[in-house]
Amino acid sequence: MTANRIRLINLGNFDKKLLHEISQEVHGTFRIQVELQEEYVDLSPFFDSARKQYNGNELLKLIDTKTPNENTKTMGLFEVDLFIPILTYIYGQAYLNGKSGIASSHRLGNERYGLKINPSLFKQRFIKEINHELGHCFGLVHCRQPGCVMQSSTYVEDIDQKDTGFCSGCQELLKNSNAAI
Ligand SMILES: [Zn+2]
Ligand SMILES: [Zn+2]
Repeated sequence: MTANRIRLINLGNFDKKLLHEISQEVHGTFRIQVELQEEYVDLSPFFDSARKQYNGNELLKLIDTKTPNENTKTMGLFEVDLFIPILTYIYGQAYLNGKSGIASSHRLGNERYGLKINPSLFKQRFIKEINHELGHCFGLVHCRQPGCVMQSSTYVEDIDQKDTGFCSGCQELLKNSNAAI
């Protein structure tokens, strides 16, 4: 079945204008309908008091329960710091070939690293993370092609090395997957 829609759920306190701009960029990459949704979820049950972070595996499961059908790929967008048990932190994660993913902006701002605040760089990093996780939802695994958004990233410097879009190889794979592009 062809996924014909992407849904971005605001589970942080993101600026509406920022999310609108991000949704347009995501639409430009995947060329299917992108809708924005506002939602409030009490995140306290997902907080790990020992790690002082939020459980990415449980939040991904939560988003999956909010994803109505296979035609829609849903991304939960968070501002809180996410972890999974085997990693210190994650920028996001998604079910490979699934219908859901999550991404967090928590570690994407320059100010976190003692550098000058840079809203446009922040936005670019967040778009890359969202496109990357959506790529997983559409069945893509990590790619080694320089610049491809499906390269894995450990540090924000890695994210800055990538483009917002897919290399030609990944684009071919997307065409053959259930993406509509
Ligand atoms: Zn990945
Ligand atoms: Zn690639």
